[in-house]
Amino acid sequence: MNAPLSKVNELTALAPEYVRSIAPYQPGKPISELVRELGLDEAAVVKLASNENPLGIGPRTRAAIDAALGEICRYPDGNGFELKAALAARFGLDMNAIVLGNGSNDVLELVSLAFLGPERSAVLSAHAFAVYPLATQARGARSIVVPAKQFGHDLAAMAKAVEADTRVLWIANPNNPTGTFAPASEIEALLQAVPQRVLVVLDEAYNEYLPLESKYDSVKWLKRYPNLVIVRTFSKAYGLAGLRVGYGLVHPALADIMNRVRQPFNVNSLALVAATAALDDMEFVARSYAENLKGLRQLGDGVEALGLDAIPSFGNFLTVRVGKAADIYKRLLKRGVIVRPVASYGLPEHLRVSVGTADENARFLAALAASLKE
Ligand SMILES: *Cc1c(COP(=O)(O)O)cnc(C)c1O
Repeated sequence: MNAPLSKVNELTALAPEYVRSIAPYQPGKPISELVRELGLDEAAVVKLASNENPLGIGPRTRAAIDAALGEICRYPDGNGFELKAALAARFGLDMNAIVLGNGSNDVLELVSLAFLGPERSAVLSAHAFAVYPLATQARGARSIVVPAKQFGHDLAAMAKAVEADTRVLWIANPNNPTGTFAPASEIEALLQAVPQRVLVVLDEAYNEYLPLESKYDSVKWLKRYPNLVIVRTFSKAYGLAGLRVGYGLVHPALADIMNRVRQPFNVNSLALVAATAALDDMEFVARSYAENLKGLRQLGDGVEALGLDAIPSFGNFLTVRVGKAADIYKRLLKRGVIVRPVASYGLPEHLRVSVGTADENARFLAALAASLKE
């Protein structure tokens, strides 16, 4: 039963003001929703809105999930031993330096839960990943937003923006939705400039997509900078977005604190076995990388041929200036192509398109060409 409006207001007033003023995260439109709304054939819809892996999942990962299904009546291993052991071996770290999350989004939340609160602040860049201001505000902390430099993080300005009450500095590298990348030298300069009471969260969700010449070893910095929090995910290059699993690599003292605010079974059992298997599926990640590079070129060339500017991307997506983005977005939907509007990121003229299969990319480009002419 719906309460009368005054009652609704009274009820919402029970939440602190910083919760009431949260603008909810806007996810990419699910295929099923567009099918319902426009009566399109599901097979005719292309979703390039959430930076998902167009290749699906690797064969080993699928086999591991199949094998684990029978045990789904049991609670997962709340400590994620197998996955942590595999990650520890991969990165040459102790298992107690790893925090697992229900997606890396959960790890970001754990940082904010454990270290932010009223009378504390966090520094972030304009156009940065939406979860940073959300997780900051949900704890009653203040966001200090630093203007971007050519759509990317201005790391020198971010270091300078730190105030006495700052406890967290959020960095996405590459950043979503801009695809911009800061070289290792700039990040290390920031780590040197920032006081150690500020946790530097380095979100590397797209790390596996970096071209060889841009790759850098952030894990080795953990020894020198105990305030560094590296966050990675299985949602992108490993193809496990639907299962929700990510991880943080941190000083064991920070891991201990983050584990205190974590739900005891935050990562489900299928996610644990799938991620452990996926970590070994090197061939799949290599293929994801190679296909993505081709797809980025296809999209880049395609939008250039249409006379549009794109922000050079280091991720698995491309953010393109289309002008009246809200209109173009709707016209694309009518043609069965779902992309992501990014006005809420301060980019009202851009649309973000995820790299799909060659065929999906071609369908997007054709639909975009038609939508621009409409
Ligand atoms: C996609 C993405 C994530 C990953 O989210 P999950 O919760 O792991 O699915 C984290 N950070 C950024 C910048 C992203 O784009």
